[in-house]
Amino acid sequence: NVRVRFAPSPTGPLHIGGVRTALYNYLFAKKHNGTFVLRIEDTDQTRYVANAEKYIIDSLNWCNIPFDEGPGKNKKLGPYRQSERKEIYKKYADILINSGWAYYAFDTAEALDLERKNHESEGKTFIYNWHNREKGRLVNSLVLTDEEVQKRIKKGDKYVVRFKSPQDETLIMNDEIRGEIKIDTNILDDKILFKSDGMPTYHLANIIDDHLMEISHVIRGEEWLPSMALHVLLYKAFGWNAPKFAHLPLILKPIGKGKLSKRDGDKLGFPVFPLAYKNEETGEISRGYKEDGYFADAFINMLAFLGWNPGTEQELFSLEDLIQEFDLKRVSKSGAKFNPDKTKWFQQQYMQLKSNAELTDLYLPILHSKQNVISSAVEKSSAVEKSYVRKVISLIKERAVFVSDFWDLSSYFFEAPTKYDAKASKKNWKPETGLLMEDLIKVIENIQDFSSENTEKQIKEWITHKEIGFGKIMQPLRLSLVGKLAGPHLFDIMEMIGKQETIKRIENAIE
Ligand code: GLU
Repeated sequence: NVRVRFAPSPTGPLHIGGVRTALYNYLFAKKHNGTFVLRIEDTDQTRYVANAEKYIIDSLNWCNIPFDEGPGKNKKLGPYRQSERKEIYKKYADILINSGWAYYAFDTAEALDLERKNHESEGKTFIYNWHNREKGRLVNSLVLTDEEVQKRIKKGDKYVVRFKSPQDETLIMNDEIRGEIKIDTNILDDKILFKSDGMPTYHLANIIDDHLMEISHVIRGEEWLPSMALHVLLYKAFGWNAPKFAHLPLILKPIGKGKLSKRDGDKLGFPVFPLAYKNEETGEISRGYKEDGYFADAFINMLAFLGWNPGTEQELFSLEDLIQEFDLKRVSKSGAKFNPDKTKWFQQQYMQLKSNAELTDLYLPILHSKQNVISSAVEKSSAVEKSYVRKVISLIKERAVFVSDFWDLSSYFFEAPTKYDAKASKKNWKPETGLLMEDLIKVIENIQDFSSENTEKQIKEWITHKEIGFGKIMQPLRLSLVGKLAGPHLFDIMEMIGKQETIKRIENAIE
């Protein structure tokens, strides 16, 4: 029974690394008919950001990877916010103290600082574990008597609960992606499990919740690999079966070295967040893939490939395909370089994959908002007529990356050009062009069947008959209709805007 969880801390917006972790958890769950749990790890109250949880949930929904259990949904093993589970953790901290796996420590921050400095002056790093904890200056329940401990607690002395990491053991662990990992327990320090503010630390709460929420696989970022030994030991200490672990490779900067950071996007000009995010404190707004015009499925396809590959040449995968193909065995150990150009490439591919009908529905609201700008050139009604817009899209789609490109690529289907490309006009509109265009209008007036093929045939015959180069007619004609030397097949445009409009635009250009 596969149960996985995505366990973000609500300290700000989710960046693409976080979304990738959520995606891999989702894919793994769905592939095995399992359950995808969202757990909000909000025990660190100093870093809590109020709108972050909503941001996380909105992001998962936009990406189409909703959770099955989580805040406000299917309360089976909830609550799913750690701040609502406070009472649970204390009890388990006590269990570890009673079994000797944990102990109280009363050291003040100043005392620990001093200890660190003393070690440094001897060229050593201070580790709070068996090297130090039972001798000398540290104050904890391993050196105090029970009465002393109780007295201090009663008196209200501040304390934390620390894990007692074992001495001289070799821990052999297994990671689903990295294989066997060996750790010498002597390098571990006695991590704090329970803080003086009455809240558990990440480590304790995480393990207890994974156990109580019956998590079968922990799939998370590589930055948690150093915590794996402690987590495995905690399961052992509680006498619980540990879930399987899989640590995902880092996402690296597109250029240079190191992990992609939340700051890199602004610096390098691409979003690192799924949705735009406003920092309530600074007022600063960060870009998001959604607002930048990316399709969610293109974004997800791109993310899936940041650390995983199907082992074939195929790159385009729907969410369904990804669920079918996803396998932890094909997740790489080494970091995945983020590539903004590749992201755009995916978007471009998905633009071509979308149906004209779907794109029409996305374009219509934009056209509606432009309706009073659109001149009388083309009947206003046809500008928002679905079948017309659908044809426009079929003609311009291959040049578009984003829906927001549509207007620039197609405005001339809805309104006559208001200006003409100066350089192109100078080059192609010769002194004799006006007269030629007047002749052309006469030819056009006589065309009965204004379909693209027929118009093309008739105009080309006329040009051949007149023995003038095609360019002398076609370029000025394109300028007249489009305003620039761009766009799809000219006769397709003519068929779309119609005979009257074609003539009117040529007349405009002659003036
Ligand atoms: N709360 C941790 C985070 O923010 C979760 C790590 C884990 O998945 O165990 O990444």
